[in-house]
Amino acid sequence: MAGPEVGEVKSRVNIVELIGRYVTLKPAGKGYKGRCPFHPDDTPSLMVSPEKGLWHCFGCGAGGDAIGFLMRIERLSFPEALARLAQEVGVELRGGGVRNELLVACAAAAEYFARELRAPAGKQAREYLLSRGIGEEEWKRWGLGYAPDRWDGLLKALARLGVDTLAELGLVVKGERGYYDRFRGRVMFTLRDDQGRPVAFAGRALGEAGPKYLNVPNTPLFTKGTLLYGLDVAKEAIRRRGRAVLVEGYTDVISLHAAGFQEAVGSMGTALTEAQARLLARYTDRVVIAYDRDAAGSAASLRGMVILREAGLRVEVAQLPEGEDPDSLARGQGPEAVTEVLEGAKPFHRFFLDSLTERYDLATIEGKEGALAEAKELWPRIRSLPLREELARGLAELLSLPEEEVRVALRGRGRPVLRGPEEQGPEAEDLVLHFLLEGKLPEEAIPDLEVRDFRPEYRPIVERWLELWRAGEAPTAEELASELDPESQAHLARLSLLEVKFTDEARAASDALVHFLYLPRLERRLAELQEEITRAEAQGGEAELRQLEAEYQELCRRRLKLLGRRL
Ligand SMILES: [Zn+2]
Repeated sequence: MAGPEVGEVKSRVNIVELIGRYVTLKPAGKGYKGRCPFHPDDTPSLMVSPEKGLWHCFGCGAGGDAIGFLMRIERLSFPEALARLAQEVGVELRGGGVRNELLVACAAAAEYFARELRAPAGKQAREYLLSRGIGEEEWKRWGLGYAPDRWDGLLKALARLGVDTLAELGLVVKGERGYYDRFRGRVMFTLRDDQGRPVAFAGRALGEAGPKYLNVPNTPLFTKGTLLYGLDVAKEAIRRRGRAVLVEGYTDVISLHAAGFQEAVGSMGTALTEAQARLLARYTDRVVIAYDRDAAGSAASLRGMVILREAGLRVEVAQLPEGEDPDSLARGQGPEAVTEVLEGAKPFHRFFLDSLTERYDLATIEGKEGALAEAKELWPRIRSLPLREELARGLAELLSLPEEEVRVALRGRGRPVLRGPEEQGPEAEDLVLHFLLEGKLPEEAIPDLEVRDFRPEYRPIVERWLELWRAGEAPTAEELASELDPESQAHLARLSLLEVKFTDEARAASDALVHFLYLPRLERRLAELQEEITRAEAQGGEAELRQLEAEYQELCRRRLKLLGRRL
């Protein structure tokens, strides 16, 4: 969990009083409602739950805990907001001396990982890096390393730093039988602040087990969504060249630098945050986004582009060839191909309109409705009048609709960004997470949950929850909030504050599980079986066919039973 001080501060803060300083709050149900300060809100869309210590806006999707609110409204970093609240509620935080101590410890950990990469046990990691064209020179420059596949490698090597310090940095995790290494059998990327000091780590799996990338949780040195990977190396080039090239992954950054694009930095995910936008704005006013095609058009990345725009940056989007990311493009086709792609970058509004054309059939009414709905989701987040004008005009043209009508439609209520309490029937996936966070999911179902079953924006929540659960905790939404990046925190708050009432909650929880998890899995297996049966029929494998058909029948019976529960 995040440091005990964070929990202590949050438990003493009165979130209604805090938010009430900025927003007029009126009682509504179990919580309070008010006008959201983060988007032009003419109906009260902001909900605050004193019981859960969370807030959420059903208009623009912002949300989180008390610290998150203060960070956002006062534009503070996590430590700043924490310090301010701590002072108000009389919690004494450990001072700056501790921060220095943690920085020293973090640097020692980076050295340890670097050493292990060069040790005999690091062979597979070295081979992996070399196979991706990342040579020894890069290892040093980027602070690459290896976490050996042991439970106590780092724990023993850095014992002199004290286990509390290692835990505070998120490098070791407490389990039932004491502490163990968080990172095992992974290639390590050192995350450094813009001064080049190691503050956190991310590990990439070498095998199939566990998540592909694993990060440390929020620590006193590091808040998710506040860093840009490689900024310490890239900042001079960004200033000199008058632009930053924003990519998604660690290896994208490393490969672009190797190909001569030293102004590349990594967002570490598609969902950009305001903190990242402000950080970038300190060095340049122009950003070229180079995400792979699918990622660039995703809702999270479009929101991120708006955030950059709102921070005063000129945003252009590069169109990568289908199936390529900057890493593969730079390594496969060389710097000229990258230059060509970057030079063809389009301004954000042009990219957005073109991406609507690509994704919807605008000759049909349904296609036009879809495109309009998507523009509407982005609309409340855009404050810039010229950009709004440009978008409304472009959209009207695209949809062959009168411009005035398009404006009215964009401003109107209609489909909210995220499902609000007034709309009925949340999706089974949302309900599963809601019940999980409420501690109302049947205990025996929890081992069945798999991170990859959930949509990408929910995965950090599920991943972290399960991690803590395996370590013997069942964190509440409020506790979990301190561990997540702002985007995930907003989802967490919404899911936790879903207003759903069931006469039989246990039944509702297991229904949600059936519809989100068990039925789709069964359907997938049935589809596989159908293919195997067709194949066996063609090959005339009698015995095999009988066995497959028996399994098919059995699964059909099970499906009927699952469906029958609803009747
Ligand atoms: Zn809002």
